Amino acid sequence: MEVIHIQLKYLFDANCYLLHNENGFYLIDTGIKKQRKKLETAITEAGCQPGDLKLIILTHGHVDHVGNAAYLRDNYGAKIAMHQGDVNMVTGGGMFADAPQSLMIKIVGFFMNVTGLGDFETFQPDILLENQSLTEYGLDAEVIQTPGHSKGSISLQTNGTLFCGDIFNGSMENITTLVNDQTALDYSAEKLRNIQAETVYPGHGKPFPKNSP
Ligand SMILES: [Zn+2]
Ligand SMILES: [Zn+2]
Repeated sequence: MEVIHIQLKYLFDANCYLLHNENGFYLIDTGIKKQRKKLETAITEAGCQPGDLKLIILTHGHVDHVGNAAYLRDNYGAKIAMHQGDVNMVTGGGMFADAPQSLMIKIVGFFMNVTGLGDFETFQPDILLENQSLTEYGLDAEVIQTPGHSKGSISLQTNGTLFCGDIFNGSMENITTLVNDQTALDYSAEKLRNIQAETVYPGHGKPFPKNSP
């Protein structure tokens, strides 16, 4: 399996990851709507045409990860998969949908709203994920529920790689300060530290080796 890292360098530097195996393409997260062209160009350059994209997997419902999900589903025929816990965010509630939120999340959500950066086409996901394998969709990967940054945050483990969404940035010690539930977040972080992986692909910033100090 090949991992194509698409960096959407804009404001929050959100990452999307396009996975490619013999069954087709799988996209993890979709960035903000404003970066749509860049994302689509990268997907096309990777050789993914409409019909080739099997799944759009959302690590969570924050607008910097879901902004192009509905568009890509409409244009590529992919199904959208995410955890139930963040569905209210993508059906219209935005980052405010999931109370209680930390002040930091409220500030970021407010900023995204007033600047229009948080605009996106709302949608209903096709598949609700929990702790499960994705082999039935043709991808040899495990979904791990990792709530705390948001209620519906999930991570993905697939042969030697870990996609951790927004939980870590830069190292396994650097946990996000955007918190929905600190106890759940600490628990999720510990769970991920105990997972076998060589490389961690975060929602923001550069990929890093899992066991680096
Ligand atoms: Zn987030
Ligand atoms: Zn994010």
